[in-house]
Amino acid sequence: MSDIIHLLPDAVANQIAAGEVIQRPASAVKELLENALDAGATHIELIVKDAGKTLIQIIDNGSGMSDTDARLSFERHATSKINNANDLFCIRTMGFRGEALASIAAIAHVELKTKLHDAGLGTHIILEGSEVKSQQACQYSGGTSISIKNLFFNVPARRNFLKSDVQEANHILEEFYRVVLIHPTIAFTYHHNGKLIYQLEKSNLKQRIVNVFGKSYAERLIPIEQETNIAKFNGFIGKPEFARKTRGEQYFFVNKRFFKHPYLHHAVDNAFQELLPEKSFPSYFINFDIDPKEIDINIHPTKTEIKFQDEKTMYAMLRSVVKQSIGKFNIAPSIDFDLEQSLNLMPPPVNYEIKHPSVKINPGFNPFDDKNQRSYSPPKPTEREQHNIQNWEKLVNETKTAAVSFKYIPQEKQQNLDEELNANISKTINYSFFQLQNRFIVTTVKSGLIIIDQQSAHERILYEQFIETIEHHNGVSQQQLFPQTIVFSPSDSELLKDLKNEMALLGFDVNEFGLNTFIVNGIPANMADENIKHIIEGMLENFKKNLMSLKVDKKNNLALSMARNMAIKPGKVLMLEEMQNLIDRLFACKLPYQSPSGKKILISISLDELSEKFK
Ligand code: ADP
Ligand code: MG
Repeated sequence: MSDIIHLLPDAVANQIAAGEVIQRPASAVKELLENALDAGATHIELIVKDAGKTLIQIIDNGSGMSDTDARLSFERHATSKINNANDLFCIRTMGFRGEALASIAAIAHVELKTKLHDAGLGTHIILEGSEVKSQQACQYSGGTSISIKNLFFNVPARRNFLKSDVQEANHILEEFYRVVLIHPTIAFTYHHNGKLIYQLEKSNLKQRIVNVFGKSYAERLIPIEQETNIAKFNGFIGKPEFARKTRGEQYFFVNKRFFKHPYLHHAVDNAFQELLPEKSFPSYFINFDIDPKEIDINIHPTKTEIKFQDEKTMYAMLRSVVKQSIGKFNIAPSIDFDLEQSLNLMPPPVNYEIKHPSVKINPGFNPFDDKNQRSYSPPKPTEREQHNIQNWEKLVNETKTAAVSFKYIPQEKQQNLDEELNANISKTINYSFFQLQNRFIVTTVKSGLIIIDQQSAHERILYEQFIETIEHHNGVSQQQLFPQTIVFSPSDSELLKDLKNEMALLGFDVNEFGLNTFIVNGIPANMADENIKHIIEGMLENFKKNLMSLKVDKKNNLALSMARNMAIKPGKVLMLEEMQNLIDRLFACKLPYQSPSGKKILISISLDELSEKFK
């Protein structure tokens, strides 16, 4: 029998290699972004058409290539990043296997323009299925532009295997995140089908995360910073209360390379342990800076699996680092009467007219005359005060029955109404308020003090207002003079599509406008239109959170999420009239004692309790 073994032609070998390296358009995006990073670019543009099926183009301002290098770069095992096998153990670049460009060229139409910064002319190469169609000198600014057209044109099986454009575009977005998140000092833009999806300026890690995932992330992140003799950890973890129901933002990087590691993931999960509701996932963005000798990147063609020399130690360190950060930064601010700081009133705002306190003297007061003291009666309430007292009385009675029919608040959170407090409030209303720490409104009643949580109070007011609007379909939309186009994260987009009709009842006029992109034509009439994206994102985030913790239907959840999002926050300075208005509106609510998510809105401290403290 004659010999039957022969060497495969390069083009075929490359196609086979491509099967491993380039599985879908997103893999090409990953490889090309990594090449731009390795070339030292500080500005990288990604342009995609039809989820990468028609075009993927990356333009970078990196080193560029010489004519010969440009031609060589498409050969298999052609790399400028390692010279010998030993170099495999000190890799700091993203690429080193020299197969990405060869693989891509084997299965697509490729056009490359590149120029070294100090060269006169650049090079323009056109390839089709590994074959060089032309190479010419060209005018080009320094750096590289590479276009991949008709991916898998000669591998129909692969092409048919591709998912819908929406899914493939999501894969691309995910690869984009994996690169941009850990390279905050590099500017990126991303256009899909002619639309600008991201424009990320040079920034720091936190700012980059916020720019990618939305402003609401600014308050959710807890920093991680720890140096050990083996590795340096840095990055952020999401506060436990913002954990997601779907495995979402979980990013490990080693020396700025994204990787997956179920075992180390478990270490983070374990650190969060009891802090998370069941079936929810913490967010994390953690980079390990480690001597390349300690890791093996070369165990998988796509280099997303990394082997650490000592995985057990890494596990223990990571778990402890995450635990420490949670412990250090997650202490909920609480008002503590033993601490002097609770008396640190924030300075009043500029232009705030300071009124001198006045002292009301009871001329009939005699500390030794018990009888006389009791007979002192406060000045007669004005008409307005009288009206408010009636409100309170009405409320006190209504609350008792309404609380029972208020089904979706978890049973354990139902507050027992403080009978004594009710009695006090209904008797004495006093319009002297002050704001404590720009967070609580303090007012006095006959038998002591009432402290109202401004955020919870406002949340209750808005919630009841939104429920009313939804139920009576009387939401008024204020049409935008300049409709805004807003891009949301893929998961938020899905949710938004699902909630569109309910949101319309509140007055939102939002329409889908391409991939993860929406156009906002109108917003609820009484809503400020300054930061619509922020408002909608925050609302969606609350909605997702509620799905986990409360059993509420869509409409209630929407009202609840909007209320939570739009309620005044701690830190907001309130004028006297605003405090009064807030309290008046609170009293007009069906359930003025409990926020829609089940928190207490007000507490009372009786004179007896106060006296106790002075013993
Ligand atoms: P690897 O990145 O593993 O070296 P690639 O096939 O991705 O292999 O790239 C081959 C070579 O082409 C790289 O080593 C690099 O020298 C050069 N190269 C690729 N892309 C660029 C770019 N955007 N700018 C400069 N050089 C590049
Ligand atoms: Mg590469």
